[in-house]
Amino acid sequence: MPALAGLSPEVLAKYQPVIGLEVHVQLLTRTKAFCGCRNEYGGEPNTHICPTCLGLPGALPVLNRQAVEFATLAAKALGCTINERSVFARKNYFYPDSPKGYQISQYDKPLAEHGSLTVPDANANPKPIGITRLHMEEDAGKSLHDDFADSASRTYIDLNRCGTPLIEIVSEPDIRTPDEAFEYLTRLKEILLYTGVSDCNMEEGSLRCDANVSVMLKTDAQFGTKAEVKNVNSFRYIRAALEYEIERQIGVLEEGSRVVQESRLWNNAEGRTYSMRSKEQAHDYRYFPEPDLPPLVVGEAWLRGILSEMPELPEARRARMIAEYGLSSQDAATLTAERAFADRFETLAKRAKSPRRVAAILLSEITMRLRAANIEFEQSPVTLDGIVLAADLTEAGQISSKQLKQLLDTCFAEGRDFAFVYDRDKPQQITDSSAIEKMIDEVIAANPAQVGQFKGGKRTVAAFFVGQVMKLSKGHANPALLNELVVKKLDA
Ligand SMILES: [Zn+2]
Repeated sequence: MPALAGLSPEVLAKYQPVIGLEVHVQLLTRTKAFCGCRNEYGGEPNTHICPTCLGLPGALPVLNRQAVEFATLAAKALGCTINERSVFARKNYFYPDSPKGYQISQYDKPLAEHGSLTVPDANANPKPIGITRLHMEEDAGKSLHDDFADSASRTYIDLNRCGTPLIEIVSEPDIRTPDEAFEYLTRLKEILLYTGVSDCNMEEGSLRCDANVSVMLKTDAQFGTKAEVKNVNSFRYIRAALEYEIERQIGVLEEGSRVVQESRLWNNAEGRTYSMRSKEQAHDYRYFPEPDLPPLVVGEAWLRGILSEMPELPEARRARMIAEYGLSSQDAATLTAERAFADRFETLAKRAKSPRRVAAILLSEITMRLRAANIEFEQSPVTLDGIVLAADLTEAGQISSKQLKQLLDTCFAEGRDFAFVYDRDKPQQITDSSAIEKMIDEVIAANPAQVGQFKGGKRTVAAFFVGQVMKLSKGHANPALLNELVVKKLDA
């Protein structure tokens, strides 16, 4: 982080940052919010448009039912109360990529309010962050400033994005550190992905975040003047932008000046924010109820129907998977970060002898080899059946972990599934107890000191003997049998 001159840790410690986040999320509906145009990223510029999303005279908006259902589902997943009756409003402002001269949004009667999302604070304790409101609105088009021969002197307009359905999720100013902001956004995205209402693709602008940040002396009772950092396109950059902005504002106050209420842009290359424009106030937009749309009423029956689509959410799923499969919280967190991955794991876990073993193989052996081969799970030569077989054989002690690694290496090298390679290369396992006992005797005779430790009560030394015999057998001794025989011999 680019440190600003002259701010000691003691000075920084006098101040309390206060952060609130506004997140815009595009909904994955088939068509736009108020017309039948395709809702799709990209496309030849100005081809997904019609009189309604261009705001031509006489065209009237019709609200997209699926957009309401997605917005409602997301709101409920974030713990919001759904207002049975909400009202669309016109937010009036000129922008070159917004041909209507206003945006259809919701103002004083939003779809949903009073939600909350829990993040870990600095001490890893759960901290609820309030969600003030979730409302529906439409996206604007795009101004294209680059990639044309005359881009130096002209800006082009692509209106394909005009009228794309959005939800805006506004948090309470409950966030106190850039890390909490990062956690809030990470969990928010996770929940939205679970509900399936958005792809949350930040590179394509499906999820965009503005951060309001101010600082106050810890002894102050009132929040300071806030600045808004606009449209930062990754969570890591938002954290960096907040860190910068907090120090900048403290610097301003320490100089005896005042923080100006304004919008600022983050420049990632330079690692700093720049003043963009003074911040508008709500009354500047001259909101009034949208005359072309009736109030939105989400009645009880409709709401019930929408909520029947609610999936199990990440937090609940983690807790259940820990209880049901005996997973560590770390493994459960990794397995549930994406819904499809968690689904995949559960399909396996239900068929395998040991879900913990499946988790271990999936998260380490398989993930590591996928990464090394730079391929996705869908392209893995080892299928779900292959993973179950590998886990069951390992769990039953029919193959050692070393043999498992070798078999998986072969699978990935040859692009073949586990069952095929296992059948062909079935490791020569020594299951003859007298042969194993002979090797154990040999190792015991060679290591009197360790035998003494074992007899003295240090029973964990047994693992040493298991390791030595396994080495002697070149990894071929049946692990379960070996474990059993080592302890028996040492106890004898
Ligand atoms: Zn249209």
